[in-house]
Amino acid sequence: MNLKTLDENIIKNLSIWLKISPEKIKSLGEILPAEPNSYYEGLLDLEILSQFEGNIRRFVHKIVKCLKEKDKYFVLDTLKKFRQLKRKGLIEISECRFVKLDKILREKLSIPPIDWNGKKAVICLSHDIDSQPDYDFCPEIVKLNQKYNIKSNFNFLTDAGYNPEPEFLKKLKEGGFEIGLHGHTHDIAIGIRPEKRIKKELTLAIEKLNTPIYGYRAPAFALTKRVLRVLKQLGLKYDSSIKSISCYGQAVETFYPYRYPGIDIWELPLTIQDDRIFRDLHLSCEEGLGVIKEITKRIIDAGGVIVINNHPRLVQQKLYYYKELLKWISSLDNVWVTTPIELINFMENREKSIR
Ligand SMILES: [Zn+2]
Repeated sequence: MNLKTLDENIIKNLSIWLKISPEKIKSLGEILPAEPNSYYEGLLDLEILSQFEGNIRRFVHKIVKCLKEKDKYFVLDTLKKFRQLKRKGLIEISECRFVKLDKILREKLSIPPIDWNGKKAVICLSHDIDSQPDYDFCPEIVKLNQKYNIKSNFNFLTDAGYNPEPEFLKKLKEGGFEIGLHGHTHDIAIGIRPEKRIKKELTLAIEKLNTPIYGYRAPAFALTKRVLRVLKQLGLKYDSSIKSISCYGQAVETFYPYRYPGIDIWELPLTIQDDRIFRDLHLSCEEGLGVIKEITKRIIDAGGVIVINNHPRLVQQKLYYYKELLKWISSLDNVWVTTPIELINFMENREKSIR
């Protein structure tokens, strides 16, 4: 692999991660001769939703809209199970392509790991509020977060059977929590809708929330470049819908936030979420915790960012898991626990400081 001819967008992100100029990186020239430049292509500018899958989802979304809450989950669950057929093995964290490259470059250039506000790694906790039961349990989530002094984020929908009340949003903001956008409806095919429609829906949702919004998570990770372009136009700073690691092969293989190629919005890769543990893998609270702790420890070792997403209605059923998770996170003293937007601000300052 030759750094002189590696894609400019990759070089740009390596430069932010390593906090050195792109020229310095390129000056290294040929490294890792066994790997062609193409080995790193198509990772950072990943689109989660393909046109094919989008069409299936568009159809399912239409049906689901007319169903009762209980039946909705059954249909969406079945869709997920079909997806399981495409499952591949999970890649080891230290084997992820950008983790490996980052490590080699740091060694070659004698650059220490990123100093995350004096800590070795970062954890961001997020919550997607998909339905009324999710919304109803939010105050309890806030209380638990406050008990462990954790600031997290809440991604809201504005047409999903609940109404994000202004007083509650105000309370969140005053408590140092972040308010994010999950969309207008929970449109699992949003990524393949015409750009005009995406813009109309997201504009409406932002207006309804009527508070500064910085970040977005796509419903069912239906992310495409179309959505990212709209987010950028609407002034959002980041998206957090692409996974760091995935057993479907749709992953960026880095644990750092990065500038999405060609669009320049920040992408904050998601590490893991509760429904993966409980719905897809059917793990118990203890087992689920074990998985998250193990992944987290490995990412801390790699000096990266861990983004854990939860759904309040699932948390309500797995309260032991959630409480223990918060307790454990608050006990990690080598980790900066913060909101996504605080982390993105940190990245922007880091980017500005590169000369
Ligand atoms: Zn959702």
